[in-house]
Amino acid sequence: EPLQGAHLRTAGVSKAFGGNQALAEVSIDAEPGQITAIIGPNGSGKTTLLNMISGFYRTDAGVISLDDAEIQGLPSYQVARAGVSRTFQTPNVPEKLTVFEAVEAGRYAAGRAGVLPSVLRLPSYWRERRADRHEAERALALVGLSEHRDEMADSLPLGNRRLLEVARSLVSSPKVLLLDEVASGLDEDELEVLEQLVRRLRDAGMTVILVEHNFQLVLRVADDIYVLAQGSVMAHGTSDEIESNPRVMEEYLGV
Ligand code: ADP
Repeated sequence: EPLQGAHLRTAGVSKAFGGNQALAEVSIDAEPGQITAIIGPNGSGKTTLLNMISGFYRTDAGVISLDDAEIQGLPSYQVARAGVSRTFQTPNVPEKLTVFEAVEAGRYAAGRAGVLPSVLRLPSYWRERRADRHEAERALALVGLSEHRDEMADSLPLGNRRLLEVARSLVSSPKVLLLDEVASGLDEDELEVLEQLVRRLRDAGMTVILVEHNFQLVLRVADDIYVLAQGSVMAHGTSDEIESNPRVMEEYLGV
């Protein structure tokens, strides 16, 4: 089954916290079948942008759109339902669940399944449960964790916990996947597995947005890179363009 992407755009998005302008008129364009990376030093606004795209913060100004629909101002569960899913920097792997159960639970976390039908044991509840299982199997297979399905989720090594976190995001069949620092703390082998997964999702047609500190990883995988500095896009281009931009390399990344 091919994965479906959607065109995610921000246009002139701004956000201030008190007097602190965290983002100033940020416009990014993330296309299906591409990995769009957002990089920049600490405090440059990366997390704020993710939080606004996923509906955790409200924008002060600007438009966020998914294909032709405007999604700014929607609460996070509606953004998730519209097809935007995200991982978190700290994997929030639930305790005392197997890997499979944790992935199934991701569907509830994404707001796909209501609580009431389960309490009332309506037929729709059992239909949902079957759909959950099917989607969970598929998400586990996509990230390559099927053989670990019956292990306890919180016993997995960090690399696999990150893959599990991605599977929990994929279980709601999102069109746009926001990956928040998924590579941090991984060893070389784990990084390789994650990198291949991200490429596979891209090649299957998803819209992948990668917020990432690992500059080398970004240069290897990203089709399009936005560099944030003090809340604004200070550079935008391909890996080659970013790598040969002295301002980016010296002033903002210190490499
Ligand atoms: P990055 O993710 O690139 O490190 P952030 O988006 O976390 O940057 O931060 C951008 C700016 O916004 C920083 O000055 C930060 O202190 C501020 N900021 C982020 N979130 C909040 C918040 N919830 N309340 C107040 N200030 C915040």
